[in-house]
Amino acid sequence: MMHWLCVLVQTPAHASLGSVLSYQSAAMLVPGTLVRVPLGRRETLGVVWDADAAGATGELDPGKIKQIAGILEGIAPLSQHWQQLLSFAAQYYQRSVGEVTLAALPPQLRDMSAAQVQRRLKRTAAPSACDHETLLATAPSLTAEQTQVVAQIQVHAGPFLLFGATGSGKTEVYLQCVQTLLEGDPQAQALVMVPEINLTPQLERRFRERFAPRYGAASVVSLHSGMTHPQRLQSWLAAHQGAARIVLGTRMAVFASMPRLQLIVVDEEHDPSYKSGEGARYSARDLAVYRGRLENAKVLLGSATPSLESWHHSRPAEDGGRYLRLHMPSRVGQVDQLPLVRRVDMNHQPRNAVFSVPLLEALRERIARGEQCMVFLNRRGYAPVLHCGDCDWKSVCPHCSAFRVFHKIDRTLRCHHCGFTERVPRACPACGNPDIAPLGRGTERLEEHLAELLCDVRRPHSVNAQCPEGEPVRIARIDADTTRLKGALESQLAAVHAGDVDVLVGTQMIAKGHDFRRITLVAAVNPDGALFSSDFRAPERLFGLLMQAAGRAGRDATLGANAEMWLQTFQPAHPLYAALKRHDYPAFAKQQLIERAQAGLPPFSAQALVRAEAKSQEVAQAFLEAARSAVTSEMAHWEDWAALVAQVTVYPAIPMGIARIANIERAQMLVESPSRTALQQFLNGWQSVLHATRRRPVGKGIIRWAVDVDPLAI
Ligand SMILES: [Zn+2]
Ligand SMILES: [Zn+2]
Repeated sequence: MMHWLCVLVQTPAHASLGSVLSYQSAAMLVPGTLVRVPLGRRETLGVVWDADAAGATGELDPGKIKQIAGILEGIAPLSQHWQQLLSFAAQYYQRSVGEVTLAALPPQLRDMSAAQVQRRLKRTAAPSACDHETLLATAPSLTAEQTQVVAQIQVHAGPFLLFGATGSGKTEVYLQCVQTLLEGDPQAQALVMVPEINLTPQLERRFRERFAPRYGAASVVSLHSGMTHPQRLQSWLAAHQGAARIVLGTRMAVFASMPRLQLIVVDEEHDPSYKSGEGARYSARDLAVYRGRLENAKVLLGSATPSLESWHHSRPAEDGGRYLRLHMPSRVGQVDQLPLVRRVDMNHQPRNAVFSVPLLEALRERIARGEQCMVFLNRRGYAPVLHCGDCDWKSVCPHCSAFRVFHKIDRTLRCHHCGFTERVPRACPACGNPDIAPLGRGTERLEEHLAELLCDVRRPHSVNAQCPEGEPVRIARIDADTTRLKGALESQLAAVHAGDVDVLVGTQMIAKGHDFRRITLVAAVNPDGALFSSDFRAPERLFGLLMQAAGRAGRDATLGANAEMWLQTFQPAHPLYAALKRHDYPAFAKQQLIERAQAGLPPFSAQALVRAEAKSQEVAQAFLEAARSAVTSEMAHWEDWAALVAQVTVYPAIPMGIARIANIERAQMLVESPSRTALQQFLNGWQSVLHATRRRPVGKGIIRWAVDVDPLAI
């Protein structure tokens, strides 16, 4: 007898063919089973799905329904919880369930036949010898704060927001919670997520050191996009089969199949990289909370500067809070002081000075004492624009509404949006003036400038035969340009750790996560931009970045007492900097939340963006406007629609911040509602209209469009 199956396959986004197709099978297969199915002329990976939940489309003529090509035997069906997670993610983020589900599986699985999977499983089946006698790396004794927090996590259900100062030992709390879990249940699994694994190699090492000796090397696996496809498949299989007890990963790991998942940790939960920027624009942090509830797993979000959303959710339960806030204000070890924050009023410095006199003086002093300094600026390259003083020509990118950045090292003008690169012209392309000059500065120019300013400084104790006057100061730069090659970041970080660098210059990349022991001074050269940004989240990001950067200073107990964070600003009295000086995140958050509440912004409202791309702004905006007017015209007769629309505001279509990238015009339209549920219902109804609008003449020139639910940048 033949059984009918609903099977999810990967079809192009928004294709007319749905992503749930009907097939026949001789065997009855449970939902979650991985199969190979014919699709057009090829064969592809599919996932059997629950027929009721799937709402299959496609071929309805029983005579034309094809048979599945095979079953990926040896891989247990994906759990019901996992299916629910994927269904929810697809619906919430307005994508097809097939697209989201297939994208959540390891890419290599898509290309493997049933036989290849069998061979692969045989190879990985032999469990690596697990030596239970090996001594467990001794866990350090916990501070009183850590002990209390760990105890709270044991007795409460969560979700938890661990609000811990930089250096307060959050990682040790994670390790302890995982350890308790694994010891108490021989099959339990834990998922630990970090924003960018390459930037936090220490964390991965600490987990391996702690758990691999006891549970075997295979008990800790990683999952992130920097791995090769075979590596990812291996990690995925280990997690799916339960051999991996701990999965360490970036945002994609939130979809790891872990049948015995009982704990999810989201470190640096405020980090924007938890939000996907393409395909289904999901937030791995938010999905982690959903998944925890679904699977009855504890969820622990950690940060020194939580997102305002999580902070708001962790207000007292009597005020409606849903997370339990746990506080660790003190730094571990002898260094209990947070660095002193100094504001330099740039209004009183020479005009156009990049480094103020007192900051330069402070840098010299630190270098003379053999300490390290970190200087950061959020703009890479040499100068953001090249300019002709005669005719006002600027190095605009011909393909984008943005300037091309001047990179001095290879004398190029590079567009950071589309990648278009050209040699720097010898003279102004518009008027021939040979005297074109860089305007503004990036990290490359900052490094050069600093080297000039510090050229007379000598490293301490460096007088030797080759350098009778002592060695010159060593300045290194770390940003996306210097770390492009594989391994470059690691070797540069190693040089800093080894003390081969006196001053480290870089973008926000260097402010994140690194545990630089000997850095005692951190300086933000020009952080004011975010204070005046049109993005309402910019102050939140700036505060988080500066707090994190400040946390880099003074990690070494013997040097920590004189650690300093310097801010050069034209707004020294700004409340953001005042709160930063006191290391007072709660005060900053309180102020921001009052402003957000008054303006009706998240977390006091829910938002979604509809974005459209076309060859011209008119076409992109016309498509959005047509979908917008449909809300009140053709959809007006829908049942209960009027009541729903009354709770939702659809704003007019506007060009995006950078309207044109690589010759494609981009427009967006904001949808907002005080009720998240209303917004979801609205989007679910409206989506079919958006699809229909795309097929109408007004949607003809649209290259692509997408909905971004809970966007991070507006
Ligand atoms: Zn000119
Ligand atoms: Zn460009």
